[in-house]
Order: sequence, then structure tokens, then C-alpha cells
Amino acid sequence: MIHLNGRVERLVENNEDDVVDPWEVTNGAKGYNSTSRHIVYVGGCTKDGVTPADTRTPEQLKAMREYVLDFHRRFPDVRIVGHNSLAAKACPSFDVPQWLKEIGINQ
Ligand SMILES: [Zn+2]
Repeated sequence: MIHLNGRVERLVENNEDDVVDPWEVTNGAKGYNSTSRHIVYVGGCTKDGVTPADTRTPEQLKAMREYVLDFHRRFPDVRIVGHNSLAAKACPSFDVPQWLKEIGINQ
């Protein structure tokens, strides 16, 4: 979880490899949990609490960029997608493929 100040908090232990072990499974995207790792950020909607919005702070953008670039460098074959590419959801409230291009990742 990426906090507003850019602090990255690990909510579930994992060994940082490219395989999701049974003890690493989290429930973030139905149908994909056994093979996916989830990155979340604090925010994602307007103050009403329901309207999707990209609310990432500069610190969150920097932390997310660093985390994703580092993971992609180590495991270039792992696909990075938004929840909204897997289900009819607004999450994560931004265009993941566009953002990946912006940070130099072409999948
Ligand atoms: Zn989601």
C-alpha cells in the first residue's frame, strides 16, 4: 500500500519473486488472486468517497513509479494491469497502460 506521503507499506509478506506462493495470496482481483500481486494506493476517489478520481500525490506517484519500475526490471515478463482491465471497476482510477508508457514501460 502506497500512503499519501509515499511510504510503501507491505500488508502481506512475500518473498519478492515472480511466483505467488499460497501464503502470499491476497484478495484483490477475483479470478486472478492466485497469480497476481496487488499494489494499492490511498485515495482513488473524490471527497464524496464514491466518485473515481486519480488522487495520487506527487509522493505516491514517485513511490509507485519506483516500485513498478524496479519490479518490471527484475521480472519483465510479468504483466502489469489495472483492476479495471480485469473487471468492470473504476479501480485504480487512472489509465494504467497510459501511465506505464509515461514511465517507460512498453508491454
Ligand atoms: Zn481494485
